[in-house]
Amino acid sequence: MKPILDETHDLERESWVESANDPDADFPIQNLPLGLFSADEDEMPAIGVAIGNQILNLSELSELLWSENPDDPIADALSWESLEMVLLLDAEQRTDLRHRLNELLRVDFTGRVRDVAEGCLIPMEDVTMLTPHPIENYTDFYASLHHATNVGKLFRPDQPLLPNYKWMPIGYHGRASSIVIRGTNLWRPCGQTRAEGASAPTFGPTKVLDYELELGCFIGDPNPWGERINIEDAEKHIFGFCLLNDWSARDIQRWEYQPLGPFLAKSFATTISPWIVTLEALAPFRTAAFQRAADDPQPLPYLDAPNDRAFGGFNFTVEASLLTSQMRAQHLPPHRLCLSNAQELYWTFAQMLTHHTSNGCNLRSGDLIGSGTVSGATPDALGCLLELTQRGAHPIKLPTGEERRFLEDGDEIILRGWCEREGFRRIGFGECRGTILPAAQPSSS
Ligand code: CA
Repeated sequence: MKPILDETHDLERESWVESANDPDADFPIQNLPLGLFSADEDEMPAIGVAIGNQILNLSELSELLWSENPDDPIADALSWESLEMVLLLDAEQRTDLRHRLNELLRVDFTGRVRDVAEGCLIPMEDVTMLTPHPIENYTDFYASLHHATNVGKLFRPDQPLLPNYKWMPIGYHGRASSIVIRGTNLWRPCGQTRAEGASAPTFGPTKVLDYELELGCFIGDPNPWGERINIEDAEKHIFGFCLLNDWSARDIQRWEYQPLGPFLAKSFATTISPWIVTLEALAPFRTAAFQRAADDPQPLPYLDAPNDRAFGGFNFTVEASLLTSQMRAQHLPPHRLCLSNAQELYWTFAQMLTHHTSNGCNLRSGDLIGSGTVSGATPDALGCLLELTQRGAHPIKLPTGEERRFLEDGDEIILRGWCEREGFRRIGFGECRGTILPAAQPSSS
């Protein structure tokens, strides 16, 4: 789909929320990502938009400004206690919401309505962010050729890339019930593993805990069961994006993954960032799809479209950092492990969605689609420890003198993401954090 640019992307536009005008802000007026928050344990969750270091409470604002019109689908969607009805707004209504918010928050907007909006602002630091809606389905793809090749080399040096990889986006059905929001601590998972050369497996906490730096894509408009999505229309089903950490227990994975793919090695937790950056906000940062090597196969016709080749990519920079307990105690900043970019993905999101529905499978509004680890071609662009340390053979040296092959208890992984392009305002995704706790004991009740 050709991205549409309009005045909401204007570089010069500033907001009366001053923190939004800082050139390094993740949430300038050009971004306007949506999320769900709770200001108080006793209060209902509210839908908000991030602006600078503040949140505009849209549930409250809409009640005060827009709910008088019974035919206003936006006011109706914002009256729910999660984003589930907002996700069902079509592209036109979503653009309408974006324009309303952009207009309301612009620096030269004054009068009673601005006073109302000012009364609906709350500092980000005063709220708890929540999972935006009940996520029913989660699929994780494997769209980076570099990641697939690097991981393949470690496990199958003679045949790193399986024969299907360049013909279709490979994925698996993940677990939706264990998706958690940024800042949620997670227990080191236990599982069955078999040491190299051992004749029998043992059960216990994973010794090879890893993260995966990914993007998450939220489905907006669903497709009915049995109806395939045409690649030309695939992006109409995308609502927006977040950052996603696909925590992985590599020792459990290695023992269990054949023949049916990842299971307990992945299903214990997936962390997402709380703000959904809409497809419309990302319009200035669209790029061509990944340039395939001359001797690579061309996509089959159902996965190919001129617009997808021209604009199917996203120029998102993504970063993963590590903060250990020792680093925290010494007040050291997080140590960057990786800087990569979604342009490195071999398959576009439109291709992933088209392939996902090519058998008639129905995507539901609010479903989460992971990109797979966003690894690039260079050693500083590897999106997980399995690749970075070559399966533990080359540990990472940290500023404290510590070494890491894989994650230890107390380690925190911090994912960040942002988009930059000359002539446009930088927009960011915020952070996706998670800290590892020691393995939990089984419940005795
Ligand atoms: Ca993954």
